[in-house]
Amino acid sequence: MEPGEHTVDELNERLETVDDEEVLETVLEAEQSGQDRKTAREAIRSRLEAVDAPGNEENGASGGDEDDESAGEEEPDAGDDESAGEEESDDGGEEDDGLTHPTRDKRHVRALADGDYEDMWVFCETQGGELLEVSREMLGKARRLMDQFSEDYGDEERVVAYLMGDDCEGLAEECIAYGADVALYHDDTRLERFLHKPYTEISAHMARGEGTAESTDWRDYDKPRYILFPATNNGRDLSAKVQAELDSGLASDCSDLFIEENEVSNPVKTGEPGVKKTFEKVLHMKRPDFSGFEYSTILCLDNPGREFHPQGASIIPGSFDPIERDDDREGDVIEHDMELDEDWFRVEITEYDQLEAGVDLTGHEVVVCLGRGIADDPTVGMELGLDLVDAFEDAELAITRGIVTSSYQFEGHVERYSKEERQIGETGQVVAPQLYIAAGVSGAVQHKVGMDQSDTIVAINTDTDARIRDFSDYFIEGDLFEVLPRLTDAVEAGETTLEAVADGHGGDGHE
Ligand SMILES: Cc1cc2nc3c(=O)[nH]c(=O)nc-3n(C[C@H](O)[C@H](O)[C@H](O)COP(=O)(O)OP(=O)(O)OC[C@H]3O[C@@H](n4cnc5c(N)ncnc54)[C@H](O)[C@@H]3O)c2cc1C
Repeated sequence: MEPGEHTVDELNERLETVDDEEVLETVLEAEQSGQDRKTAREAIRSRLEAVDAPGNEENGASGGDEDDESAGEEEPDAGDDESAGEEESDDGGEEDDGLTHPTRDKRHVRALADGDYEDMWVFCETQGGELLEVSREMLGKARRLMDQFSEDYGDEERVVAYLMGDDCEGLAEECIAYGADVALYHDDTRLERFLHKPYTEISAHMARGEGTAESTDWRDYDKPRYILFPATNNGRDLSAKVQAELDSGLASDCSDLFIEENEVSNPVKTGEPGVKKTFEKVLHMKRPDFSGFEYSTILCLDNPGREFHPQGASIIPGSFDPIERDDDREGDVIEHDMELDEDWFRVEITEYDQLEAGVDLTGHEVVVCLGRGIADDPTVGMELGLDLVDAFEDAELAITRGIVTSSYQFEGHVERYSKEERQIGETGQVVAPQLYIAAGVSGAVQHKVGMDQSDTIVAINTDTDARIRDFSDYFIEGDLFEVLPRLTDAVEAGETTLEAVADGHGGDGHE
């Protein structure tokens, strides 16, 4: 048998028929000198174990006479989703360390080879008995995407909102008004607040179409085609857990989505080298990459013999507009039916408190934002920023996440300005003042989305290649420790006024 000619799943099937240890060893050698896929190696070794050849483990561990029954018990796993898993992370030889892999007991996962997938699902998060705004935003985007989908492909697939809570039928109806075709809800007094375990179990149960006929006869497919979650604290947790339960992937913190076909030549996806394959109806999920200066588009594509659905994304609040509420829109509101295990409620929320609202940076004429450019003397940098704030009539001090996550030692009188409540950006506040002054800020995408709607942007930076220059109206090349005091003096002396800057006349020639 030539293993390189088969996908791992095919190989698994063929190995089932081989009982000869020597043949298996030859197959293992051929795999190692060929494609050397981790999952293929594991499958062959598993089979070797099953035919009682433990001496073939890479480190030569364990010998001889293991009893057939226990080896046999492992077998279904080896041919199951474990071996069909992703090849990417070759952490080499961990099967020999005597430890059990933490997910080895995942029996509920069904890696489908020819499944049916339909519809775009949206997890609609609620708080205090109301839909979060991001839930409405996602429904709006889902509506537009699926309308386009039916135009492009001629298939009427639906937007399915799903939610859970205590007495949430009314919110399910609201989801229809905001664009859903179906709203699936699970009511239970214990679900009033977000809880990881029951929320995850219910989501996965809903997505797999499990439950009574009455609660599932509206659909006829294995799993959703797409699923959206909000990139909120709870939504981020839930998205990862649900997608793991459903054995699919997740693109987190996305700010744009579109559906298109995609041609790929990666042999992991096509099944053979040198061949191109077109995937249809692929959800393209755009998110800032970790550097913060580029966007990446994430795709969740099937492997041969193993499908990854739903294609899932979590969505940054504020990325999309909701559609206008229409209480006359028609749709199906369906109660989901499922026994909830008492054990899932071991964590009980006995008390909760609302955090103070914090600092509101929106609605000011001017925002002065400090970034890591203050590193040389963080306390002085902060003082200089505050001086400039004071020079304007209506200004507030903001910071980048770079400051929030830094380990700068601020002196007591300015320390409170270094907290997350003043952060601008994707995971902070979004502002659009008349004037935004960014001192020592590089202009990462995650920062940009929180301030680029400002009327006039002035950047102060020592680096003329700093990305913020691309979206600034004025770029002052210079050290903020020198520029900020001069700017403050000019504002105090009336040489630089807000109106003059907005008109394109900075006043004293700083620009
Ligand atoms: C999931 C995720 C979410 C994120 N969310 C946010 C968010 O909401 N908001 C946010 O801000 N970031 C966010 N980030 C972080 C973001 O990617 C950047 O790392 C961060 O914005 C950089 O902060 P900075 O501009 O202060 O620091 P840096 O990128 O280090 O830039 C410092 C700048 O100061 C300049 N400089 C240095 N010395 C001086 C000086 N003396 N005078 C003048 N200029 C000087 C440098 O040339 C440089 O351009 C997020 C990242 C991730 C991965």
